[in-house]
Amino acid sequence: MVKNEWTVLLPAEIHLAGPESIADIATTVKRDEYDTRMQLLADAERFDAIITRIERIDREFIDSASNLEIISKHGVGYDNIDVDAATENGVLISNTPGTNSRAVAEHAITLLLAVRRRLRQADRAVRAGNGGKYDVVTNEFQSDTIGLYGYGDIGSEVANLVSGLSMGCLVYDPYVDETELSTHVTKVESTAALFEQADAVSVHAPLTAKTRNDISEAELRQLSPSGILVNTARAEIVDRDALVSSLEAGAIAGAGIDVFADGPPSEEYPLLEYENVILTPHIGAQTTEALTQMSVESADNVRSAYNGTVPESALNSSELS
Ligand code: NAD
Repeated sequence: MVKNEWTVLLPAEIHLAGPESIADIATTVKRDEYDTRMQLLADAERFDAIITRIERIDREFIDSASNLEIISKHGVGYDNIDVDAATENGVLISNTPGTNSRAVAEHAITLLLAVRRRLRQADRAVRAGNGGKYDVVTNEFQSDTIGLYGYGDIGSEVANLVSGLSMGCLVYDPYVDETELSTHVTKVESTAALFEQADAVSVHAPLTAKTRNDISEAELRQLSPSGILVNTARAEIVDRDALVSSLEAGAIAGAGIDVFADGPPSEEYPLLEYENVILTPHIGAQTTEALTQMSVESADNVRSAYNGTVPESALNSSELS
């Protein structure tokens, strides 16, 4: 018997490679074809699968989508998906591990170097015609140590990249065994030790109940006044007020931030005021290579579910019957 085509909801922006690869089994609909959330909810029953980037997939949507078989995350962090609601409704969740690790790792290093070398101020000085008077002196990284909060696909890629910069590398990751670390990487057992011993810390853990606000005043104040915090993971892992007060007090030298709690920050976002903070709009994974890979693998996961098989990256299959 020939199976019916599936209907798959796509994010507004997605590389065409993925949707094209499932054209033989699915009709696709882009999210921005709906003007309002109410319209989308009213149509939710239509969908057999969803490919999602950072759009929130909440209980109301999942409950309304009574034919849904899979929520296929285009990317890694799935904190935008209500996992309990999906599991209770028998809906598989999958993601695309490793597809953006190089892109995000490169971005984290870019932010780190740009904050240290004060590229924001330097660029502004040149554009304002003051380049000749700009004589800020900074330090090299070669005798410095980076601390990684999280040593999964992205953290370990950052570790590889910094070895090329002759930097030391410390890791705090309670779920990684010492034997899994590269030879130039040393594990520490607490966030306090990580922040105390590192010259800069880069965040690469998922947002969970345990990591939410886990980097707070106590940790940031362990960094030295030349210390830098880079966050390309999730905003909510770092206590924002603590970061602001550490910057205000000059307790750290600066920060590089790619992630914001509720989408793009408004004019009131407190970090906008700081010259020593570089902000980027969640572009860590925005390389052609990563976007293609995420699109293709998230579509592959839809195909697996269509074929009645469980994608390798399924996150809740053990809880589904
Ligand atoms: P991963 O699952 O491969 O690695 C995450 C690591 O964090 C794991 O090794 C895990 O053991 C560790 N971890 C979990 N809880 C921890 C804790 N309490 N303290 C320290 N470490 C902990 O994921 P990844 O591919 O490396 O991605 C990491 C995160 O980066 C994602 O969850 C996502 O939120 C974020 N991300 C951001 C972008 C971006 O565009 N800026 C792109 C991709 C991923």
